Amino acid sequence: MSKKKPAQRILNNASRSFRIFTFGCQMNENDSEKISGMLKALGYVEEMDVNKAGLVILNTCSVRENADERVFGNIGAYKTVKKNNPDLILAVCGCMMQQPEIVNQIVTKYPQVDLVFGTHNFHQLPQMLNNYMVNGKRLVEVWEDSDTIIEDLPVDRKYPFKGFVTIMNGCNNFCTYCIVPYTRGREVSRQPERIFSEVAALVADGCVEVTLLGQNVNSYGNDLGDEVNFANLLRQLNTIEKLKRIRFMTSHPKDLTDAVIDAIAECDKVCNYIHLPIQSGSSRVLKAMNRKYTQDDILNRVDAIRKKIPGVAITTDLIVGFPGETEEDFLETLKVIELCHFDSAFTFLYSIRTGTPAATMADQIPDSVKHERINRCLEVLHRISHDINQTYQNQVVEVLVEETSRNNPERLTGRTRTGKVVNFPGEPGDIGKQLMVKITQAKTFSLDGEKIPQEDTDGAAHSNDDPIPANS
Ligand code: SF4
Repeated sequence: MSKKKPAQRILNNASRSFRIFTFGCQMNENDSEKISGMLKALGYVEEMDVNKAGLVILNTCSVRENADERVFGNIGAYKTVKKNNPDLILAVCGCMMQQPEIVNQIVTKYPQVDLVFGTHNFHQLPQMLNNYMVNGKRLVEVWEDSDTIIEDLPVDRKYPFKGFVTIMNGCNNFCTYCIVPYTRGREVSRQPERIFSEVAALVADGCVEVTLLGQNVNSYGNDLGDEVNFANLLRQLNTIEKLKRIRFMTSHPKDLTDAVIDAIAECDKVCNYIHLPIQSGSSRVLKAMNRKYTQDDILNRVDAIRKKIPGVAITTDLIVGFPGETEEDFLETLKVIELCHFDSAFTFLYSIRTGTPAATMADQIPDSVKHERINRCLEVLHRISHDINQTYQNQVVEVLVEETSRNNPERLTGRTRTGKVVNFPGEPGDIGKQLMVKITQAKTFSLDGEKIPQEDTDGAAHSNDDPIPANS
């Protein structure tokens, strides 16, 4: 008896359509832009309705437990979607797929998933799709690690005027609560010439702002020899004509050297904004987190930043309720928040990530205590944010306009060089422009303003400044 051959799927126009859902951080967003770029190069078009799309990709994140739960909930829902749209190919990729137990769960419990790939081999999507079309069989292909970064992938950027540029992948730090070193592998830096070319090409296409991405940008180049480092990279990129703003994320406090701070201060295109995730203010907790700095180091770095970079905004990340965190430890965190005067913070309740050392530490903190502490933490942070934002009242700031406001199509929203969100009345035609805006109402989380006649201003003259008085 002859074996039946699996049917080769013939793609019609409807099948050549896709939708990507991205969970997690900017690195994932940038990966999704590359996946989208590859698909569009193959002739695929975006289709927002999953009931009509030929391919849906879930690009997952595993930093927090509830992100995992959301992804599984999403995958579950595709059982029904596939009943309405039986030709749909469902692909799942990203950080969660770097965990063998999660892949195993998908393979055994979620037959609706057709393709599984990881963070190191998403560039293989075109071949995987092709193989799937030919064989009609589920494909699971996850590389454990990679010591190279695939260059020259087409990137389908969300905004024409600003873009992410990944400068390195991976992390060597192994903070005890974090899953990233297990999902993104060890640090691998891109060659500076490659980064320079990518940024220069973006600028030639009309981009004015780039955000350099890495888990720890301050250790950029450690794997490339003495001359290659983050400070030098900033200085090189600062020479690109017509580039207006350089941002970066994220800076590990232990690697934020004076050389990097000097480069930020001296490069006029580098925004006077630093996201410095301290996670805790208690030296004892920081040790348990394996962060390799103390409370004194934090205060010293923040002091150096403020002395050298005028008008700088500093934001942070905080984890509340790390195992063993006592009331005294928590009070140390509140003290550091007050002393550092952070513009704002992303605050997180500690959540167990299976496979990390902190998951099995003694003295896990009850949820009620975590919630009580985070509320106290937010009270302090919001008071400081409100006070800092009041200093913008009646000032004129340079805003890069990003989009129309979600709640009101007659208003625009954009960001200052210090990362403050500014909302003001305006036309969609202003999106992508750098405008001078006078702040009329400073609120805790954003600023309201009004566009001032642009002929009265010279945006370039205030490239790395504090807000300037409206009448100066
Ligand atoms: S520095 Fe720490 S928190 Fe950041 S990605 Fe690396 S291990 Fe995770």
